[in-house]
Amino acid sequence: MTRLAHLWDQSRCIGCTACIAACNVANYSSDTKENKTWGWLRSNIRRIEILRGPRPMLLLVQCQHCDNAPCVAVCPTGASYKDVDGLVKMRPELCIGCKYCMVACPYEARWLDEDTGLPRKCMGEECLSRVSQGLQPVCVEVCPAGARAFGDIDNPTSEISRRLAKSRYIRLLENKGTEPKYFVVVGP
Ligand code: SF4
Ligand code: SF4
Repeated sequence: MTRLAHLWDQSRCIGCTACIAACNVANYSSDTKENKTWGWLRSNIRRIEILRGPRPMLLLVQCQHCDNAPCVAVCPTGASYKDVDGLVKMRPELCIGCKYCMVACPYEARWLDEDTGLPRKCMGEECLSRVSQGLQPVCVEVCPAGARAFGDIDNPTSEISRRLAKSRYIRLLENKGTEPKYFVVVGP
């Protein structure tokens, strides 16, 4: 089986947000309108600053492509679905804009595109197109710190599998039973 997944290495990330800018350029054509759901640039990566502790910490959150995806379970039309490659995708032509998926997602990984009235999420169209051609998503491609990886976690020779095998990592909100496939590496 193929199970495509994202890795974000918090211990390597330098907080430059090049990944967010690249997502905006590739998937939203450098649209400068605000993503009002997250109060930030139009992109599929949410930037959360955690202000507890001695210094601020950055958490980057996006669709976790959950194996047990609540957004898919609640979607009344099949617009949100799990593809055979393991990614959670959307068929905009089936979406009726009910926003059940936005409410169901415990990661708040979907945002509302006010132009269309429909939810948006990772992966964007350009990234899906790149992946179908064997390329990396743009956030992975541009990261100057090598803090990101994307690939098949069911293939032990893929870069993401090799990095996971030698790292300590967490998955967000595992207690929700979503089986997320967004791996946050916290150290070697
Ligand atoms: S591009 Fe890389 S280093 Fe910069 S914020 Fe994104 S993950 Fe972190
Ligand atoms: S994979 Fe593409 S759509 Fe998803 S966060 Fe990265 S750049 Fe954005």
